Amino acid sequence: MDAAPFSQADAEQTLLARQLLALHQASPQLLALFDDQDVLRFANEAFCQTFDVRPDGQTRWLDMMRRNLASGRGNVMSAADAEAWLAGAASRRGKQPFRAFEADLIDGRWIWMTETTQPDGWMFCSASDITALKIDGRTLRQERDRALRAAQTDAMTGISNRAHVLQQMQEQLSRVQIGAGQMAVALLDLDHFKRINDSLGHAAGDAVICDFARQLQACSRRVDACGRMGGEEFALLLVDVSAEQAQAVIERLLERTRQAAPLAPEQAAMRYTASAGLTLARSGDTIAELCHRADEALYQAKAAGRDRWMWAG
Ligand code: GH3
Ligand code: MG
Ligand code: MG
Repeated sequence: MDAAPFSQADAEQTLLARQLLALHQASPQLLALFDDQDVLRFANEAFCQTFDVRPDGQTRWLDMMRRNLASGRGNVMSAADAEAWLAGAASRRGKQPFRAFEADLIDGRWIWMTETTQPDGWMFCSASDITALKIDGRTLRQERDRALRAAQTDAMTGISNRAHVLQQMQEQLSRVQIGAGQMAVALLDLDHFKRINDSLGHAAGDAVICDFARQLQACSRRVDACGRMGGEEFALLLVDVSAEQAQAVIERLLERTRQAAPLAPEQAAMRYTASAGLTLARSGDTIAELCHRADEALYQAKAAGRDRWMWAG
């Protein structure tokens, strides 16, 4: 006789999973599970009520947050520009194995949110109601978190700033150096940007910079990192990818950029493009060497006609 298809251990696992699910469903804590694409795969009733959402296998975290913004539910978004708030929050999601922070909800509750992320990108969120905690300490802690976030964030686009990108690059480079990972780095610069400023004005230039930040975020996975290095220059760190995969991401990004139409209808004819220099981290690299190689490749891409990417030689 063949072995039974379900062992005792399998049965025990199934029992535990069923119990955990039922208890999570009944818990007053807000509990949710997001997959590696940030699609909501499980949410208990408390979470569904708070964020006005159902796990339908399609709704991403960003969709959920935008819907909440439109309907006046969920989080209080503290920045004047909610899209910048969302970009900032998205860029911090799941970048560490564990994160905990306070957040205030539009319904007046304060929550203590934790995010636990697996190396494969799946994330478990839990939030406790801490409204009853002493207000002074809470405000102080929130101010501290806000200051920490501001120190890592580019104020105009809401994505990481140069210092935060370099910090994340150093962290991943340390993994490369001990043979525990890989990294591709792309430096990107918008093409003929001075012309956009000169012909349409600085505000239109700013709108294009913010649009490119969104394209960049849309092309990076949870494990990747991206940021604004300054002016109209950006960086994208792709974690544990092959050269072919890195190339494909950059091609998709440049194509999205060609198709983007960020300006008002009267300026709709305006399109913009970007150039990129790509390099793979090597085990002996310093950050300076890595960036220098990517920068050289970017220069080559510009010299070859722009709106393209090049590998570092
Ligand atoms: P190239 O294709 O060679 O990159 O040409 P370019 O015109 O883009 O040249 P470059 O990258 O040297 O020019 C960057 C310009 O971006 C110069 C600066 O005035 C403008 N700039 C830098 N920061 C900002 C900003 O925050 N907002 C706006 N609107 N413009 C900015
Ligand atoms: Mg530039
Ligand atoms: Mg430029």
